[in-house]
Amino acid sequence: MQTVAIVGAGIAGVTACRSLRESGFSGSIILFGDEAQEPYDRPSLSKSTLKTGGPPPPLAKPGWEQEFDVEMRLGERVISVDFHARSLVLDRQRSVTFDKLVLAVGARARSLAAARSAPPGTVHVLRTLADSAALREELGAGRRVIIIGGGLIGCELATTVRTMGCEVVLLESSDELLLRVLGRKMGAWCRDRLTGLGVEIHLGVSVTSISTDAGVRDVRCSSGRRFTGDVAIVCVGAEPSVELARDAGLACNRGVLVDACGRTDNPAVFAIGDAASWPLRDGGQRSLETYLNSQSQAICAASSIVGQAKPAPQIPISWTEIAGSHIQMMGDVEGPGAIVERKSPEGDASMYLRLHNGVIQAAISIDRAKDFAFVTKLIEREFEVDSNMLADGTTGMRDVFKAASRADVKC
Ligand SMILES: Cc1cc2nc3c(=O)[nH]c(=O)nc-3n(C[C@H](O)[C@H](O)[C@H](O)COP(=O)(O)OP(=O)(O)OC[C@H]3O[C@@H](n4cnc5c(N)ncnc54)[C@H](O)[C@@H]3O)c2cc1C
Repeated sequence: MQTVAIVGAGIAGVTACRSLRESGFSGSIILFGDEAQEPYDRPSLSKSTLKTGGPPPPLAKPGWEQEFDVEMRLGERVISVDFHARSLVLDRQRSVTFDKLVLAVGARARSLAAARSAPPGTVHVLRTLADSAALREELGAGRRVIIIGGGLIGCELATTVRTMGCEVVLLESSDELLLRVLGRKMGAWCRDRLTGLGVEIHLGVSVTSISTDAGVRDVRCSSGRRFTGDVAIVCVGAEPSVELARDAGLACNRGVLVDACGRTDNPAVFAIGDAASWPLRDGGQRSLETYLNSQSQAICAASSIVGQAKPAPQIPISWTEIAGSHIQMMGDVEGPGAIVERKSPEGDASMYLRLHNGVIQAAISIDRAKDFAFVTKLIEREFEVDSNMLADGTTGMRDVFKAASRADVKC
């Protein structure tokens, strides 16, 4: 009998527990989470949970830990790992031994040097349920909210906060929104949509200081411009939590370095989810910071632990909700090849696909969930597609998929 200790009760940690049992693991599983709440859905924090103030959806149904025989220790922070003794240190008196360890400690919101002189609690970030609740307290119709950072979370927040009746100013240092994740075309598309929603967007502005005077948030930029509001939120990305791993001597580089089975450079230790820098199918490795990749990494690490390793180099896959649209993406939109724009039968852009040597490398879908499901299969299987058929929005994606799979069989 073995003990697997899992640190971090987010989607990666909870999925690892379930997958271990589903793969036949019969030893002990201990799950530590430093947040006190039952494991919850983090993506909802910038969307429905912020808007309604209701509890976020749980990650598992009540009683799941009994069903899967998991000892869940919520509100307990692991402060260090002793690999020599194979133990987790909880405080001066308490430690827990393990045979295998899974680090599923996630990431934290990146801070902005310009905000460091602001009094505590006056500049928000958004990573945890507590952050979301603190932010919601300050929102209300007519409040002027300054969002710093035009990436996914900044744009999602701009949408949610605007629909709550606030005035929204969105500041981005690049010359387009969402460049890193969605590329220039989709960035411009989202900017148009957010502007239509009434969001005031300023590109190419670099924030140098945020101060608070008599409750007014005063945001100053290098160009000399100044923006004032009632609420300031910094959304400039996330930093993988590597402290436990790094302090214990594991190799880290913006994430705990793992192989395609989730193994770190210590054979007894795995890392998954936002905390892990995982190999990609198309080369390189990085922390992917997405819900679905965190899940698939957890499943992969669990198989490795039970001795059925199935290497799973990752293809980034994610979704977002911006200005009333459900946007799904797979692969890296920037890269070799050409972008094919697929219009809906009504003539609106419905997908952007990066095609290289006849194979779809990446796709972004706007409100086309059924089509996207076929595109994910095309990307995974690396089928060659007909680019004219792909661009023709009157041909269903199912038909594109069928034609591509027939052609693949003939080859
Ligand atoms: C506001 C927001 C919106 C998002 N929206 C989307 C979206 O629309 N689509 C999408 O694909 N992704 C989205 N994401 C990203 C997604 O939520 C993450 O990729 C996913 O939650 C990562 O899961 P994880 O289990 O690796 O880490 P986490 O969810 O961060 O969980 C890690 C847990 O470990 C705990 N922990 C850390 N250190 C310790 C310790 N020493 N001891 C005990 N516990 C510890 C943390 O407190 C945390 O509870 C969003 C993220 C945020 C913040």
